[in-house]
Amino acid sequence: MEQHTFHGLKLAEPICKALQGEGYEHPTPIQLAAIPHLLAGRDLIGCARTGTGKTAAFALPMLQQLSTTQKKIPPRGARALILTPTRELAVQVGESFRTYGRYLRIDHALVFGGVGQGPQVKALRRGVDVLVATPGRLLDLINQGHASLAQIEIFVLDEADRMLDMGFLPDIKKVIAMLPAKRQTLLFSATMAPAILKLAEGLLVDPVKVAVDPPASTLTQIDERVLFVDEGNKRALLSELLKSEEITRALVFTRTKHGANRLVKQLEKSDIAARAIHGNKSQTARMAALQDFRTGRCRLLVATDVAARGIDVDGITHVINYDLPNEPESYVHRIGRTARAGASGIALSFCGGSERPFLRDIERLLKRSVPVCKDHPFHASGIANTRGGTSGGAKITAQRNGWGAHRRQRTCPRYGCGRRGRLGAAK
Ligand code: AMP
Repeated sequence: MEQHTFHGLKLAEPICKALQGEGYEHPTPIQLAAIPHLLAGRDLIGCARTGTGKTAAFALPMLQQLSTTQKKIPPRGARALILTPTRELAVQVGESFRTYGRYLRIDHALVFGGVGQGPQVKALRRGVDVLVATPGRLLDLINQGHASLAQIEIFVLDEADRMLDMGFLPDIKKVIAMLPAKRQTLLFSATMAPAILKLAEGLLVDPVKVAVDPPASTLTQIDERVLFVDEGNKRALLSELLKSEEITRALVFTRTKHGANRLVKQLEKSDIAARAIHGNKSQTARMAALQDFRTGRCRLLVATDVAARGIDVDGITHVINYDLPNEPESYVHRIGRTARAGASGIALSFCGGSERPFLRDIERLLKRSVPVCKDHPFHASGIANTRGGTSGGAKITAQRNGWGAHRRQRTCPRYGCGRRGRLGAAK
């Protein structure tokens, strides 16, 4: 169908050419649903998590609008503002603008904390088309008179749920208060919790609502397993799993920053190269860790939830929940780091005795149980058999998101537990 191409969405030739260069053949569902409304100037509330193609869903129409209505930007001003919760996400959004706008004359600047402000001030001095920023540093620069939001025509609040989780609501409100009343506003969030809807109410005017990939579900191509293990055996279990060559790029989640550091040290003692990424690390250290992970210099990145939020690394074969998250939504965010852009992936969750309630909450949110892998040397049947436990054999009613989802049956590395349950059986 003509509409199912980027040309069919009425995107301009220079944009289609850039997308072709990236190898994008078809718009993703969120792009199909959002782009026509955004080109028509509507406000939009999008329920979509990272990995669905949501960045292009807002960046492409934005590039088109900005390039067809070229204007002189006053010093320190910008025509579009994208607020992101993390520096990493800001960098990625900036990279997307660079990629998709390759054949257009649209410039962008990045503003985030943890690095010197000098280069950012300089980048803003003459004004930019697109400003991608985290809230804290943006407010700092505005307060010092280095940035102005008076000319903003399009405002995007990206990953709004995570913004609120990270306590950015007061900062977001300050930013919103500085925006011109006449503007186009977009809000993206992986969940539509009441606090998000409340925020949206005062922010958007008659918004189009677009939802893909409902938040309480996970994509079919992620093969999930829970492994019951005594806390003291978690590291041995991880080492055992890492013997598998199938794990070529794994994101390992710990609950705390301290836990992440400790795990990396322990792994290094066993000659397993790993890097940690969390909020206490300097921006330079975070970038270096990400780079090592991206280039394959190390196959393990140990992260906390907040740090991992904006990471967009292709080819993550495994997400390993070394600790289960105490917020069930984080589980969905975490496992979504693998199986991105239609690839398949494996999510393995370690569950110690004290984490049983976390697993229960996750399964409640998912409305299904996570299949159990017992076939490993550290299986703790005592934990597995705790009352209120997971059945492991429940029918999985997985959602499809329908694009590029080559649903393959995957087996848990080495232990072949994929034989037990087949994900993605839903039509
Ligand atoms: P996002 O949800 O914006 O983080 O995008 C997830 C990944 O999907 C990124 O690596 C994009 O480069 C990729 N992507 C976005 N749109 C498409 C598309 N239409 N076709 C193929 N890949 C895409």
